[in-house]
Amino acid sequence: MLAKISRHILELSVQEQQDFVNSFDFILSDCDGVLWLALSPLPNTGRTINLLKSEGKKCIFVTNNCYKNDEQFLEKFKLAGIDSVKSEDVINPNKAIVMYLKKYKPEERVFSVNNHVANEVFRNSGIDIETLDVTDNLDTAALARLIKPEQKVGAVVIDINYNLNYAGLAKAYQYLLDKDCELIMGGSDTHILMSANMTTLGFVDFAKYLSKYSHKQPIALGKPSPRFGDIIKEMYNITTPKRCLFIGDSLSNDIAFGTVCGFQTVLVLTGTSTKEEMLVAEENLRPDYYADRLADFIELFQNIKLTNNNIV
Ligand SMILES: [Mg+2]
Repeated sequence: MLAKISRHILELSVQEQQDFVNSFDFILSDCDGVLWLALSPLPNTGRTINLLKSEGKKCIFVTNNCYKNDEQFLEKFKLAGIDSVKSEDVINPNKAIVMYLKKYKPEERVFSVNNHVANEVFRNSGIDIETLDVTDNLDTAALARLIKPEQKVGAVVIDINYNLNYAGLAKAYQYLLDKDCELIMGGSDTHILMSANMTTLGFVDFAKYLSKYSHKQPIALGKPSPRFGDIIKEMYNITTPKRCLFIGDSLSNDIAFGTVCGFQTVLVLTGTSTKEEMLVAEENLRPDYYADRLADFIELFQNIKLTNNNIV
């Protein structure tokens, strides 16, 4: 089998550019590193997404960011100049976890070691959650009292949580000893982009830690898990994954996710992964296409329009 070669969207012939544009109905786009970097939108983000929408592409935003609620997300889209984004156009692990719990664990109590924003989303969605706040210095007896399971829970939920503490993990472990209690996690990011030039450790290893000692296989509901993809396909009624184009800046997260879901993929070089990394990546991490930036789509549409006008 021939190795997959990732092609730059502006290096395709005009006919290939036209065929490419005709080959998808849905754009599924990551946010951080594609639309914006930390606090600032990338140049022409709004113009590009608005153009894609005006060309009839349905745009959905798929992020592992679990530290923002709908209101905060919509504010970011507005700041970036992207028109008329609605709450239902944005999906992240918090929303996927709510969907999963409502479907598979209806009415069941959940123990959360997730962050306060996620917990608020769960509560507002009617999920009965228990959390653990630790303010005192603990000795062994106090810890034992604190982590004693209170009542049966159907799942333990974990994702990025800057206030995560040992007592919370220890109580999660106690609950996971129950055979019916599932371990649910969000994204599998190994690192978190804090600002344009600062990265820190992700939280995936805390989920692995709980998984290792409870012998529970985590149910991952963030990129790059295919289960997250199944939820997205169900939510947006996606029946032909090949007619979707996934745009992301991370090979291990976005491109792996797009590939496992059967979407076409584009890597943009404005975030985590570099062109050099792309060129030596394993087959499943190699995108179908790449672009220097999201705004390259503007030039691509100009090329097509110019040629069509000349023909007319
Ligand atoms: Mg990203």
